[in-house]
Amino acid sequence: MQEAGYEAYIVGGSVRDILLGKIPKDFDVATSATPEQVKVVFPRCHLIGRRFRLAHVRLGGVLVEVATFRGEAGPSVGDRVHADGRILRDNVFGSLAEDARRRDFTINALFMDPVTGDITDFVGGYRDLQERRLRLIGDPVERYREDPVRLLRAARFVAKLGVEPEPDTATPIPELAPLLANIPPARLFEEVCKLFLTGHAARTLEALQRFQLTVPLFPVLPQRGMQGRAHTGVVLREALLNTDRRVQASQPVTPAFLFAALLWQPVLERATAYQEQGEQEFASLERAATEVLALQTERTAIPRRFSAVTRQIWVMQPRFNRTRGRRAMRLLSQPRFRAAYDFLLLRAIEDPSLQTTAEFWTEAQASAPSPAPPARSQGRGRGRRRRRSRGRPGRSAE
Ligand code: ATP
Ligand code: MG
Repeated sequence: MQEAGYEAYIVGGSVRDILLGKIPKDFDVATSATPEQVKVVFPRCHLIGRRFRLAHVRLGGVLVEVATFRGEAGPSVGDRVHADGRILRDNVFGSLAEDARRRDFTINALFMDPVTGDITDFVGGYRDLQERRLRLIGDPVERYREDPVRLLRAARFVAKLGVEPEPDTATPIPELAPLLANIPPARLFEEVCKLFLTGHAARTLEALQRFQLTVPLFPVLPQRGMQGRAHTGVVLREALLNTDRRVQASQPVTPAFLFAALLWQPVLERATAYQEQGEQEFASLERAATEVLALQTERTAIPRRFSAVTRQIWVMQPRFNRTRGRRAMRLLSQPRFRAAYDFLLLRAIEDPSLQTTAEFWTEAQASAPSPAPPARSQGRGRGRRRRRSRGRPGRSAE
């Protein structure tokens, strides 16, 4: 971009990570060029986004998000601002200094010249980063109202970077947390994935609890004590630690398993209540699963390819109790056996009476003549792990 005569800087999380000595996973670039001008320089880039228009440029396998400097629009600009203070469109172009002020936290508003390595800092972000301080730019309440996802981003950066929010940045969070209800569920699903599938899930849950954001984000979770904090059990805690270990080890993680762990508590409570009313175990679980998923997807979308697996993980749990007969062994050839089994192992940490059952299925896998189902699940890999085979797992266990 500089060679083409434009201003261009590395900005956002990538600069922050470089200064913290980490390797950025992707790069954000701010430029004086409009998206159309970026397209002329990089004809193969993709222009995306509505709220913020961006160009996605792939360079040597790395994704670079190139955004034009954003500016402050006057208050009279059409339908840009919603009645609740949310900014719906933010495509007014501006100067470098204005762009810095539109960003969320000071540590995210540093510009690095990619050629000289010089840092431009309009907001005191460099010092904040050195002192591990999280500070919203401008008036925190106003900035949270403009975009309540910043509430979650605050919790995420506390967990991910170990920064400590300034009182003015931290204090309004619990009170403003209900504003998350106004965010499109698809955007919140993306945020949940960033919160829990990027290697610091356990600390993220602690931060969400601390800022009373857990229930606003997962309204089906049973509230515990103070407003906004949820009762979270051993299964969830262990699942998050396990997810973090998997991310560390570059193993795949999936939202399906994450949501199975997140929402298990309310599913179990509902299913138990229906059983007390005389409903069958499977039927009660099915019904509880449907209800809990429906309630949660009002807040965070869960694409069906994930929620279908989440449901299977839950509904398979009682089937593990049947350990006799050839029919029981059919479970081994179910496509979701492995994920459901990993989930059983987490449940057995909470409830030691499940240990024997868990061990039975660990053994059963090791001695089964057919290859174990694909290991695309989260787990501690106690059973025998085979190479992933293409197509459906063998059915010779029948
Ligand atoms: P990471 O990449 O680790 O998730 P990040 O800070 O790079 O963190 P991105 O979502 O990639 O987060 O955003 C890039 C930059 O865009 C941010 O650093 C920030 O300057 C700006 N930004 C992102 N989201 C917002 C927001 N909701 N409000 C204001 N500025 C934002
Ligand atoms: Mg980023």
